[in-house]
Amino acid sequence: MTDINSTPYIGPEEVVRKKKEYIIPCVYHFYSEPMQLVKGEMQYLYDHTGKKYLDCFAGVSVVNCGHCHPEITKAICDQVTTLQHTCTIYLTQNIVNLAERLAQITPGRLQKTFFCSSGTEANEGAALLASIYTGRQEFISLRQGLHGRTKLTMSLTGLSMWRTDTSPVGGISFAPNAYCYRCPYGKRHPECDLACANELETIIKTTTSGQVAALIAEPIQGNGGMITPPPGYFKRIKAILDQYNILLIVDEVQTGFGRTGKMFAIEHYDVEPDIMTMAKALGNGTPVGAFTSRPEIADKYTRPGASTLGGNPVTSTAALATIEVITRYNLPERARELGEYLKSGLVELQRKYPVIGDIRGHGLMLGAELVNPDKSPASEQLDTILEQMKNRGFLIGKNGPDRNVMAFQPPLVITHEDLDNMLNHLTDVLESLA
Ligand code: PMP
Repeated sequence: MTDINSTPYIGPEEVVRKKKEYIIPCVYHFYSEPMQLVKGEMQYLYDHTGKKYLDCFAGVSVVNCGHCHPEITKAICDQVTTLQHTCTIYLTQNIVNLAERLAQITPGRLQKTFFCSSGTEANEGAALLASIYTGRQEFISLRQGLHGRTKLTMSLTGLSMWRTDTSPVGGISFAPNAYCYRCPYGKRHPECDLACANELETIIKTTTSGQVAALIAEPIQGNGGMITPPPGYFKRIKAILDQYNILLIVDEVQTGFGRTGKMFAIEHYDVEPDIMTMAKALGNGTPVGAFTSRPEIADKYTRPGASTLGGNPVTSTAALATIEVITRYNLPERARELGEYLKSGLVELQRKYPVIGDIRGHGLMLGAELVNPDKSPASEQLDTILEQMKNRGFLIGKNGPDRNVMAFQPPLVITHEDLDNMLNHLTDVLESLA
């Protein structure tokens, strides 16, 4: 039998050719001259020529503990050679141990969890749970939010580039997001008195039947462009929702597990979600999704609801090992400290280069919005910068409705030296384009 690991690398041109021939074309990749990645080691990635890259995007906020973290990898390998899969129709222990661990680290009374394999599924399930508990079918979502690719989660998504479905489900209203840099009311915080949050009440009263099951929101909108609500925002939102008995679903798929300097980003706002969804960093690269709620809500979901691969022995082990690494090495604190360091470096760059219009985010979830002198989005400039940074060995992300927000979401094990190195190269690139 051929050892599949000995397969020679086919190279990026051949990968692109096969991709065109065999992959459905909705799956896009970054860069006009992309590389083929073949190896990962903590905060670093390597292409097929052996070139090393500092990963500042972590597979879109997934690999919080670093690529192929030795302790997580060992736990996965031990489990995969012992018992890989049974389905939840049989009893195994990793799934319940993981649920117990999540109850310990999630905010407040969140306690009972359902496991699946992706963020999309987690949000779809959370919406179903909200409907079951409230007996209501309508939802409210935020503009510029992203919640998934299924019919419902795509319909809950507030970014037109991710709304491929032209006949979304009905009964969804969109509330303004807290985009302070381009405030839809032309106001400034705190004089605005959170006008965007206050608008929620008008929306409930005017665009819904009043029978709303839940509002779903990311604490920081990742794909939306690192939109970071001001202090007090979620407290105001929750107070309005409570008046109308509407649940709050917090989507921590991109923000969770230490990324923002706290275990979960909603903790920055001191608000307890009614339902919380997780995926991405929970498995550090293995497919794990989950939604969790307090018993009063969760216990209403009693009709059968199995996910064949959800909570599988291997992915549950991976998630348990990931949480162990995050807590043992205090990665949330590391993200807070390094995030402040990176933010101050970016603020210094902003002083020199007016193309950086805004810097926002918490911990190691930071965005730099690039703008032209008239504040219009500098999307092409960002592409040029990202391509040049990639050539210099630094992978940085991008997001936002106009694809003009530079996204920094590195593995939380990144070092000060890595950040200095990246900032020095970014300075050179910005200088050459200025
Ligand atoms: N919610 C958020 C906030 C996300 O960022 C994403 C993916 N980018 C999803 C949900 C969907 O997750 P998945 O791709 O795992 O289905």
